[in-house]
Amino acid sequence: MKKITLIKGFKDILPDDSPAWRRIESIARDVFACFGFREIRVPIMEKTELFKRSIGETTDIVEKEMYTFRDRDDELLTLRPEATASVIRAYIEHNMLSENPIAKLYTIGPMFRRERPQKGRFRQFHQLDAEVFGDEQPQTDAEVIFMLFHFLHRAGLTQLAVEINSLGCKACRPKFSEAVVAYLKDVQNALCPDCQRRMNTNPLRVFDCKVENCGSIIAKAPQILAYLCGSCQNHFTAVKSYLADLKVPCSVNPMMVRGLDYYTRTAFEVKSGALGAQNAVAGGGRYDGLVSFLGGPEVTGIGFAVGLERLLASLPQAEQAKYQTDIFIAALGDRAQKTGFSLTNELRRAGISAETDYGNKSLKSQMKRADKLNSSFTLILGDKEIDEKQAQLRNMKTKDQQALSLDNLQEKLISIILNSNECRDG
Ligand SMILES: [Zn+2]
Ligand SMILES: [Zn+2]
Repeated sequence: MKKITLIKGFKDILPDDSPAWRRIESIARDVFACFGFREIRVPIMEKTELFKRSIGETTDIVEKEMYTFRDRDDELLTLRPEATASVIRAYIEHNMLSENPIAKLYTIGPMFRRERPQKGRFRQFHQLDAEVFGDEQPQTDAEVIFMLFHFLHRAGLTQLAVEINSLGCKACRPKFSEAVVAYLKDVQNALCPDCQRRMNTNPLRVFDCKVENCGSIIAKAPQILAYLCGSCQNHFTAVKSYLADLKVPCSVNPMMVRGLDYYTRTAFEVKSGALGAQNAVAGGGRYDGLVSFLGGPEVTGIGFAVGLERLLASLPQAEQAKYQTDIFIAALGDRAQKTGFSLTNELRRAGISAETDYGNKSLKSQMKRADKLNSSFTLILGDKEIDEKQAQLRNMKTKDQQALSLDNLQEKLISIILNSNECRDG
């Protein structure tokens, strides 16, 4: 039969790699809980409309990268390309504002984008996403950035640098947009075809263009910080000062501009020295207009997303996780196999990781398997040992061997294993 392979751009996370994933997720849960965040789990699929409205019709994600299909009843559905829209949809749908004026939520899971396949980019990738609704104070911006920074630091990322900018508000941002459009009109012909198109659909997206020439044109464009109104200026100054209080290394990047109208005030990215210059591990910002834009109440919002593949790729190479088994029971002969079967499963019930072999193989081949499973102890149990009412316990590291009477064997094994684990951990 022809074998069936993975979908292009998708990836299996194999048993050797999953401990690194679990570790990151568990650090995130610990850190976020300290900051009062609670987990929400939202579906991986939503009505296409949700992403079109939240991410924007003119973005690359919506134009080119979404996995969208028609369901059997003709409804257009999309595999989520990011999590914020779903979290907001749930926040509105479950009327969370009525429970609490401030909601802090996080979610972890797979996202889907049909990007051009390239090294380190996957079409199913994973993000950790955190959002705060209902607090517009600059302390909240600083706190969210601090939490992200602290999490990445605890995860083991080095040379972390935070870049921030302010994108203004409904009052001041339009003036900046106008100035950018006026500037771009003069240099229009030098822009790449994509940017020429963006000029008419969404001019601020020119700031995201990766084409070199566009980059040097945009470097001379008007900068948002010169257009901020008084209250946006105060907010930005306060955010920077709270970040300084928390000793977060932070620099202003006036070129960080998000193309959509509901992005307001603080925008930020975190980069790690371990990655190339373009590769931010995480990014986020304020979106004070988005909740109401999606049909919800007038509630402010701020959040971030961390790319877990990028995060893991930029950690120092973790030791590959091998099998760890507390005990292997090498049972030889029919009666020993029967005893071994119960003993193995009773040990597991008691919280000990135990393995055995049901094939009645030779002692040599069973010892080989015990080595493969990286087991700390092997219990050798043959019909002969059962007749003599004792089994041999071998410590696989020291190679010491001791005879154990079969009376209360299970309790003895548990106590020996737990004692040796204490020595190992201590
Ligand atoms: Zn403003
Ligand atoms: Zn361009």
